[in-house]
Amino acid sequence: MTVKKNRSRDESVEIVLSELRGKDLVILTTHKNADGDGCGSEVALADWLRSQGTETFIINPTPFPENFKFLLPDISWVVEADSSSARELCDGADLVVVLDTGENPRIGKVEPLVRGLKTVIVDHHPIGGNPIEGISLRDTTASSTGELVYDLIEGAGGPWSKTSDLGVYVAVVSDTGSFRYGNTTPHSLRIAAELVHRGVDPGKIYRRLFGDYHKTRLELLQSSLSTLDLDETYKIAWMVVSEKAYESLGATPEDLEGFVDYPRFIDGIQVGLLFRKVSRNAIKVSLRSNGAVNVNPVARKFGGGGHNQASGALVTGSMERVKKDVIEGVREAVEISGILK
Ligand code: 5GP
Ligand code: MN
Repeated sequence: MTVKKNRSRDESVEIVLSELRGKDLVILTTHKNADGDGCGSEVALADWLRSQGTETFIINPTPFPENFKFLLPDISWVVEADSSSARELCDGADLVVVLDTGENPRIGKVEPLVRGLKTVIVDHHPIGGNPIEGISLRDTTASSTGELVYDLIEGAGGPWSKTSDLGVYVAVVSDTGSFRYGNTTPHSLRIAAELVHRGVDPGKIYRRLFGDYHKTRLELLQSSLSTLDLDETYKIAWMVVSEKAYESLGATPEDLEGFVDYPRFIDGIQVGLLFRKVSRNAIKVSLRSNGAVNVNPVARKFGGGGHNQASGALVTGSMERVKKDVIEGVREAVEISGILK
C-alpha cells in the first residue's frame, strides 16, 4: 500500500532527513507530561535512528510515563534529565530532535541541557510565543507528530521495525482520540491501515491504552463528574478535578486522560474545560473545542498554547479566580466564532 503525502511536507521531510543522517549521537525530547504522541514518536524515531547506527537517547523534562513504557524495547533508551549521564550525553551529542512541541518552556529542564546543540523540530502545533529555533518539519495539518515521524521513516525508505510501527500507531491513535476527532484525515487513516496491515493489533493496543486503567481513575472520575457545570447560552461546560480525591487516591496526570471529553460531549456544548489545582496557587486548565470555536487564543492569553481544538495552560491564581477568568475568555472566543448568531 502506498501512502500519499503533500509536497511541502515532502520537502521538509527531505531537509530533516539530511540532518538526521550520519550522526553519531542524537538526543530526542518532547514536552512535559509526555502523551502517547510524544512517547510514540520518540520511540519510533529512536528505533529508526538506532537502525542507522546512531546512538540515540530519550531525555524528557518529566519522567517517561509508566503507561507508555511498553513501547520501549529497552528502558535504557530513556535517561533522566536530572542525571549526570544526561549532562554528559547532551555535551557529546551531534543533534537534538524536539518532538510534539516547538516551544522552549514546554521542554522545561531539558532546555538548558540542549542549549547550543544543533536542533531539529518535528511538530504539529501552531508556532507559539517562545519558539525553539532549528530546522523543522512542522505541519499543523498533521493529525499527530507520529504522522510526521511516519513520513520521515517512509521518506528514508525505512527500515520499518515492530517498534517503530507500534510507536507511530500509538502516537496517531492518541492524538486522534482513536480516529474520532476532527484531525482524523485520509492520510492518518492510511498510515494506520498500513501499520495494521504490517501486524499492529488495534484491539490489543486499545486495551493497553484505554482498557487497563486502575480503579483510581473511575473513582476520580466519579468525584470529578459531580462538579460538572455549564453555561448553556455560551455552549461551554466544565469540570473540576477533586483535589481531595486526587490526593487521597494517589492519582497521576495519566489518570486524567480523556476527562475533559465529558463536558464537551454534552449535547449542545461546543467547548469543554477541565480545571485541576496543581499547587497552592496554580491551576492546570485543559480546553477542548468540538471544532467551531478556536480555543488556542484563550490558552495563549493565559500563558499556554496548543491546537485550535485542544489547548492547555498553567494559570497562576486561586481556583475560583482562574475558573472565572478562563470561562470569561472562552465566552469571548465563542462570540468571535459567530456560533451565537
Ligand atoms: P492538555 O490539555 O491535554 O494538557 O493539552 C492539550 C494541548 O495543549 C496539547 O497539544 C498540549 O501540548 C497543549 N498544552 C497543554 N498545556 C500547555 C501549556 O502549558 N503550554 C503550551 N504551550 N501548550 C500546552
Ligand atoms: Mn501531538
